[in-house]
Amino acid sequence: MLEHWKDYFSPCPEDILYEDSQVVAFKDTSPQAARHYLVVPKVKIKGVEELSRAHIALLDHMIQVGHRILNTTSLLPHQYRMGFHIKPFRSIPYLHMHCLLLPFRNTWQRIRFSESLPFGGFISAIRVLGKIQR
Ligand SMILES: [Zn+2]
Repeated sequence: MLEHWKDYFSPCPEDILYEDSQVVAFKDTSPQAARHYLVVPKVKIKGVEELSRAHIALLDHMIQVGHRILNTTSLLPHQYRMGFHIKPFRSIPYLHMHCLLLPFRNTWQRIRFSESLPFGGFISAIRVLGKIQR
């Protein structure tokens, strides 16, 4: 069954922006930036630490969907962010890629989605892809 994601996320039908056989993308119910979407795989994966070479195509597809829903062709790299929470911040035990159009709503959100924290927190999707391709 590819419906496990519905045990963890329950977007309103009108908040679903994209769906295909592999992924679903929808608006985050508590947006933390100007626009805030989640891209979720239909195959259950608990988090980034479970990703391996077997998931390269899936992650690449998630990133492409993220670019599409954020419409990044009209954006500069510093205007958006795509990636994953890692410990200690991950809240939901089901892989979900955050897609954020900046600015953030407040400083705390900017910290939560920063890649430069000493204790982890957030990792960009492209960095995860680079790691599993090695
Ligand atoms: Zn998260």
